[in-house]
Formats: sequence, C-alpha cells, structure tokens
Amino acid sequence: MHSSALFIADLHLSPADPATAQAFLRFLEGPVQGTDALYILGDLFDYWLGDDQLDDPFYAAQAAALRALATRGVRIHFMPGNRDFLCSRRFATSAGLTILSDPCVIELDGLRLLLAHGDAYCTDDVAYQRFRRLIRSRLSRALLLAMPRTWRQRKAAQLRKRSRNSNRNKDYRIMDVNARSIEQAFLNSGCSLLIHGHTHRPATHQHTNGIRHVLSDWHAGHGAYLAWESGELRTRSWPAK
Ligand code: MN
Repeated sequence: MHSSALFIADLHLSPADPATAQAFLRFLEGPVQGTDALYILGDLFDYWLGDDQLDDPFYAAQAAALRALATRGVRIHFMPGNRDFLCSRRFATSAGLTILSDPCVIELDGLRLLLAHGDAYCTDDVAYQRFRRLIRSRLSRALLLAMPRTWRQRKAAQLRKRSRNSNRNKDYRIMDVNARSIEQAFLNSGCSLLIHGHTHRPATHQHTNGIRHVLSDWHAGHGAYLAWESGELRTRSWPAK
C-alpha cells in the first residue's frame, strides 16, 4: 500500500488576489481530501507580518480551512518561505499543521526526499543571501515582532517595493538557483530527489546527483501541484484541465 502526498508552494495568498484564495479553498475541498499528507513549501501567503495577522478575517478563513482538513485526518506540513517566515506557533495551532525547517528530509514509501523553499539555493544573488541571513536572525525576528502592526505593514510594503525595483535590474540567471548549491544539497542530504518552489519556474531538472522538481506558483485563480501517488511523482494543474 503506497502513501499519498501533495506538494504546493508560492500561492502568495492575499486579499489582493481573491481568485487564488478561492482556488486554494477548492483545492483543499477537492484533491487534498483523501490524501495522507499535504506539504506547503513556503510563500503560502504573499506576506506574513506576525501571527496577529490571524485577526484579519481573510487569513483566519485560510487557517480555519486548513484546520478543518487536519481534523479529517490529513497531515499538513508547512515550511515557511521568504514571504511568510514569521509564521509561528499561533498560526501552526490555528491551521492544525506542523512547521518544517528549511531544508528538511522526509521519507515516502521508503524513498528519501529533500524539501526546501528554494531561496537558500539562489546563492548567485549575494545581496539577497546577506539580507536573508540578517532578517531571519533571532534578534531581527524579535525586534520585528515587537513593533506595532501598522509599522510592520509599512515596512513590509517598502521592502516589497524595493525588492521589485532591484529584481528588475537583476540578471534572469542570478534570480535562479545555483547549480553547485543544488549538487551540494544532494550530497549533504544523501537524497537524490529535491522538491522546491520560490523561483516560479516550474520544471523538472536532471542534475549530476539527483532530480529536482520546481513547483509552480499560483496566480489569478490558477496553480499546480505535485502529487506522490502509487510510488510516483506527477505534476497536475489546478483547477484540473
Ligand atoms: Mn519565495
């Protein structure tokens, strides 16, 4: 008897894209029902400025839908991405999920899989990696969460704008993963299968030390997911075509 699992990433849920929020809720009521586990590999939300964001009904509804699924027996795992790394305990409890560290290794039907959000492999973007280390430090997190929510909202909007502007001037290749970092990740983990998101460049790549599946982002009500079923990985679009 094989186990089943679904993998998604980069839904970037926000009130600004209600069609994708709807597609996600239908996905939870559809293909996810009856699967053993759902893995969300980061950037489920377009931004997460602290778990007090659950006070907003839009986000409370997403968390409640996840929790309803968990009570029906689907194990839900969430690996925070660069947009929602501030998701924490209160969010995990209200969504009925467990938080995974990035990267992490799971086992499905005896096969070891390496899971990551993906941004840590974009090592050609030196400025981004420096920012990532800084913002994710324990001190930065504590300082951020100590600020009033309105300040955090302003700051996040500034950061998103700045990132959009600087990414516009960056070479397309710099924004993708670095091949050597990927080979190293295969060697360090002892896995020969990697699933990640972040780059919004869905594809399957054959590397020297393993196979890499890049998850699709979701946008304007359309997305895709990777399904582990009958001992195989398959890409499926959502809504189903
Ligand atoms: Mn990302």
